[in-house]
Amino acid sequence: MNFENYVIENDLGAIESDWTFKELTTIGCGGKIKTLYTPKSLEALQKAFRFINDHDLEYVILGNGSNILARDNDYLGIVISLRKMPASFEVMDNTLTCSAFYPTIKLAYELAKLEIGDLSFLGGIPGLLGGAIYNNSGAYKKEIKDVLLEVTYINSVGELKTIKNGACAFGYRRSVFHYFNSIIISATFKVEKLATLEILEKRQKQRQLTQPLECRSMGSIFKNNQLISAWKVIDALGMRGFQINGAAISAKHANFIINTGNARAADILSLIELIRKRSELEFGIKLTCEIAIV
Ligand SMILES: Cc1cc2nc3c(=O)[nH]c(=O)nc-3n(C[C@H](O)[C@H](O)[C@H](O)COP(=O)(O)OP(=O)(O)OC[C@H]3O[C@@H](n4cnc5c(N)ncnc54)[C@H](O)[C@@H]3O)c2cc1C
Repeated sequence: MNFENYVIENDLGAIESDWTFKELTTIGCGGKIKTLYTPKSLEALQKAFRFINDHDLEYVILGNGSNILARDNDYLGIVISLRKMPASFEVMDNTLTCSAFYPTIKLAYELAKLEIGDLSFLGGIPGLLGGAIYNNSGAYKKEIKDVLLEVTYINSVGELKTIKNGACAFGYRRSVFHYFNSIIISATFKVEKLATLEILEKRQKQRQLTQPLECRSMGSIFKNNQLISAWKVIDALGMRGFQINGAAISAKHANFIINTGNARAADILSLIELIRKRSELEFGIKLTCEIAIV
């Protein structure tokens, strides 16, 4: 039995074949998706993920698509979309338990209303919590690893497993989840009372001034080198504003590539490659991508 029939026969959610990555990623590029799977429930997702792994099927997990560049050709594997999964959070004593499908910006503001400040650094990161854990996302000198206690995920046989922070191998935009088949479903965090609404609003204004939030992008393209920020390298190459067809290096933030309207993934990849080659040739600096390329 193929995956599509398995999902339908077992009532595990919706299967659609009329989506493209353009509609499902913040950069707005990418080809058609042969199979978009939207799980009906956690139990359904567990069964479907087991089937995918048992049959060694190609798949990609999609949260809010804010850190993914999908190529222009049709994607023939399965895209597991988590955006419609039920999501909630709960605070008890000094512990926050939150679903991985909860939007991070909303979470930061909801917590601010409760005067819980520890996850306020997520206030400008437009993803779902699972993507933030997967990438150990961070801002303002704070990362997920600084506040997370435990993560629960679905393993390749569909079981729920919980691991502690120390087992997550967090690094710069990295976690253990990059290295094995798994879907993050929830996490707990240590939190404390702290008023942060004002700081969230101040930071948002600052982001609007310094980042092209009015354009389609994926956030920072390159990781910062230990010695120098990637935007400084790109600026030193004189590439701020440089454009290949519809893909442009933002004039506001040189480490952001924006889609000016009709960018193809190929234009963005050419721009990334050009920046990398020139950075290595002219400064001997190897830039590595922060984004996931599908
Ligand atoms: C304007 C803008 C500003 C940004 N600013 C920041 C910033 O300040 N700091 C920062 O760190 N990032 C930033 N980002 C990048 C991005 O928002 C983060 O990486 C975010 O955490 C990704 O979440 P997502 O749900 O969109 O993940 P996606 O883009 O959907 O996925 C990213 C990766 O995570 C995997 N993944 C997603 N969910 C799960 C899950 N539940 N289980 C297992 N794997 C999963 C995907 O397969 C993919 O490989 C910015 C992006 C934009 C567009």
